[in-house]
Amino acid sequence: VSSIEELTTELARLPGIGKKTAQRLTYYLIRQPAEQSRRLANALVTARERVRRCNNCYNLTEDEVCSICRDPRRDGSIICVVEEASDIGAIERSGEYRGLFHVLGGHLSPLDGIGPDDLTIAQLIHRVSQGEISEIILATNPSMEGEATALYVQRQLAERAGVRVTRIARGIPVGGDLEYTDGVTIAQALSARREMR
Ligand SMILES: [Zn+2]
Repeated sequence: VSSIEELTTELARLPGIGKKTAQRLTYYLIRQPAEQSRRLANALVTARERVRRCNNCYNLTEDEVCSICRDPRRDGSIICVVEEASDIGAIERSGEYRGLFHVLGGHLSPLDGIGPDDLTIAQLIHRVSQGEISEIILATNPSMEGEATALYVQRQLAERAGVRVTRIARGIPVGGDLEYTDGVTIAQALSARREMR
């Protein structure tokens, strides 16, 4: 395999990058000064080495505990549960939310062999049993798997007295991705969240 083919193959593995785009990026990168490739490669390797999961919420961070969990101005009594760390950025952009987060690390998907133990659901239950949590907002994606995951987590939390479990409303298109949803839509979905029963 030629190095050009190899680079194209690797780029095509990235989400949202098809074969054609991968080819275009490859030719673009090859035309740039060697120094730029080195910077890109270094940034990639450094980020991969330094970034880890927050001990509390499983957000991506370079520290033991992420900056959101450490922020004393945030409301520690509300936890917004999301599938991926990248969803946090989308909710933060809405500017409507001042609580904490919990990253599940995906959604339940029996067909792919992903069960509750593959997600950080037990860790979420643990957080709820530890702290003074008044509300859990389930902000998993409005896909079939996201809904099933929200329902599962809700059942797990159902017996906890004093904890309100809500689900974000469907301002977000079904089958859509939270990460790519604009701030206004997310703000509406958050404010129209409903009780789960
Ligand atoms: Zn955190």
